[in-house]
Amino acid sequence: MIREIVIYGDPVLRKKGKPVRETTEEIRRLAEDMIETMHDAHGVGLAAQQVGEAIQLTVLDVSDAENRPSRMWIEGEEVAIKEHMPLVLVNPELELSKETEAGPEGCLSFPEINAEISRAARVKVKALDLEGKSVAFEADGLLSRAVQHEVDHLNGILFIDRMSSATKVSLGSKLKKLAERE
Ligand SMILES: [Zn+2]
Repeated sequence: MIREIVIYGDPVLRKKGKPVRETTEEIRRLAEDMIETMHDAHGVGLAAQQVGEAIQLTVLDVSDAENRPSRMWIEGEEVAIKEHMPLVLVNPELELSKETEAGPEGCLSFPEINAEISRAARVKVKALDLEGKSVAFEADGLLSRAVQHEVDHLNGILFIDRMSSATKVSLGSKLKKLAERE
C-alpha cells in the first residue's frame, strides 16, 4: 500500500525514532509499504518518519540511479548492488569516513528542493533486517550518501540542517512556503 509522504513542517520529521524491539507483522507491513511508496515516488530512500512513524526503520534502493554510481562491500568483498536492493535497515548504526564529498541531494519531504550537501564519502553500516538478523556492509557513492540522509531522518535531522548557511538563505522563501502549506 502506498502511504502519504509527510512534508516539511510536520513535527514528526523532527522526532527521533524509537528503536524497533521486535520485527512484528505490523513492522514488516510498514517496511513493505515504505518500499512501495519510495518506488512510486522515484526516491532512493525513505525513513519511517516520512510516513508518520517515529521508529528506527528505513528503506533504500539505488539500483535505478545508473548515472550516480555506488559500490557496496560485505565482509570486505565488493558485491553486486542490485542483488541487495531494496534494503531494509532496522536500528541502523553508522561509522563515517573522515573523507567527505559534496554532491546534489533532494528529499521526498521537500518537493522541488535540491542542494549540494557535504557527506562522508564512505560509510560502514550495521543494522538488523526484518528477520532480526544482523546486516553489515560498507558503501560509497550514492548509497553512502543516501544511507546517511536516511539515518539522519531517523534521528530527526533533516538535510536543510546540513546545508551551508548561504544555501539555506537562498532557499528561505521556498522552505517557508513548504512549512506553511496546508
Ligand atoms: Zn529525506
